[in-house]
Amino acid sequence: MPLHLYNTLTRRKELFEPLRPPYVGMYVCGPTVYGDPHLGHARAAVVFDVLYRYLTYLGYKVRYVRNITDVGHLEGDADEGEDKILKKARLEKLEPIEVAQYYTARYHQAMDALHVKRPSIEPTATAHIPQQIAMIERILQNGFAYVVNGSVYLDLEAYRKAYPYGVLSGRQVEELLAGSRELEGQQEKRHPYDFALWKRAEPTHLMQWDSPWGRGFPGWHIECSAMSIHYLGVPFDIHGGGMDLVFPHHEAEITQAHACFGTEAQHQARFWVHNNLVTIGGQKMSKSLGNFITIEEVFTGRHALLSRGYPPMALRLLILQAHYRSPLDFSDEALQAAHKAYLRLLQIGELLGRIQPGGISEWDVASWEASVFAALDDDLNTAQALAQLFSLHDEAVRLYKREVTLRGEDLERLRRTWKVVVEDILGLLPLKAVEKSRWDAVMSLIITLRRKARAEKNYALADFIRDELAKAGIRLLDFPHETLWELEA
Ligand SMILES: [Zn+2]
Repeated sequence: MPLHLYNTLTRRKELFEPLRPPYVGMYVCGPTVYGDPHLGHARAAVVFDVLYRYLTYLGYKVRYVRNITDVGHLEGDADEGEDKILKKARLEKLEPIEVAQYYTARYHQAMDALHVKRPSIEPTATAHIPQQIAMIERILQNGFAYVVNGSVYLDLEAYRKAYPYGVLSGRQVEELLAGSRELEGQQEKRHPYDFALWKRAEPTHLMQWDSPWGRGFPGWHIECSAMSIHYLGVPFDIHGGGMDLVFPHHEAEITQAHACFGTEAQHQARFWVHNNLVTIGGQKMSKSLGNFITIEEVFTGRHALLSRGYPPMALRLLILQAHYRSPLDFSDEALQAAHKAYLRLLQIGELLGRIQPGGISEWDVASWEASVFAALDDDLNTAQALAQLFSLHDEAVRLYKREVTLRGEDLERLRRTWKVVVEDILGLLPLKAVEKSRWDAVMSLIITLRRKARAEKNYALADFIRDELAKAGIRLLDFPHETLWELEA
């Protein structure tokens, strides 16, 4: 079964076919860089990283664009309130560009640790002001926007006469009013639910540019339309982001694309793909609830909800153990379990490396392989693909014990597929060589001491070692000529 993806626009799973094969254009909304990246950033980045990796594995030439929002994202995600980056700059007495560059670097650091590949293009909003102005001018020419006091607003009444509104979210324009406050901008609008494409800047505003309408700065929504279309054309293949962006951000992008390019824009992207959010103990993550966890806090363990620090791959695996459209509830226990699962995955890989080939194949590698790819093809179900990987454990033990055998070529195929899926597609790195060699050295010493005890018929000591290891969650597998170890599942 070829790749199917759930399309938020049509509300069903659809066969993925690129508009211009073998090329695939994918745009994903990146971070607004005014604070340390948190678990929500980690989930979106890892999910779309795996999609990027899988499309590449399938042979497509993917241009992956993920932006950096460094201007125009106002508090409350609407047209009022302070720019998030300017507020941070004011509070910390920094230049806005210092804030943006510092948190961009922090974001990169965290993503590199999580083994998230850098996108092909990472455009910043401030470096694409001319593209945004050009798009706004065209929307004005088409009669879907108006200028008031140096600000430009999208005219939703005019738009609704030409195009249906709410195609992505199913929401009504009236809902745009929720959460927006009565500030000075509201009186300028013809209708309270019109949204800003360009905002006039007061002389003291730190980030402003020349435009046909005077000095100002772009709205958050126009940035993503302008940058995605600039690099990928319109329509392009995949637009992604977190579910919280469906409304109003992505609905606004589709509106702008039609207002600018007409029906040819075809909803700006063929597939709209959204990942579900991260909850903490069933609650929405928020600074006010004190359950806001940054990626670095997961690595260091410096957070009241964490018992210790965890390696980046434990977090990556935890994210991939949930299907991307399901909620992901984060907890210390879940992370602990994911850490163990990660180590177990490495051990299965290692066991596969030790199997000796036999004369005949008594186990069907091809059908196991098919089950892994069927899971990935079914709307990128990494949870199911991982379950298939873990299911290999018992088979690997039987193959190792030679209870069943595989011919050399089948064994090679099994090892190759394992490596491709675990490392290339799911992006799970092997343990650092140093860490692994330490583990191996310690465990081999303990195993040697226990074998020595047994050879000397000191069974009490041998059993004591085995039981103490079991208490620590380490199980010994005794074979006639050697003993292997593994972590309890
Ligand atoms: Zn965006």
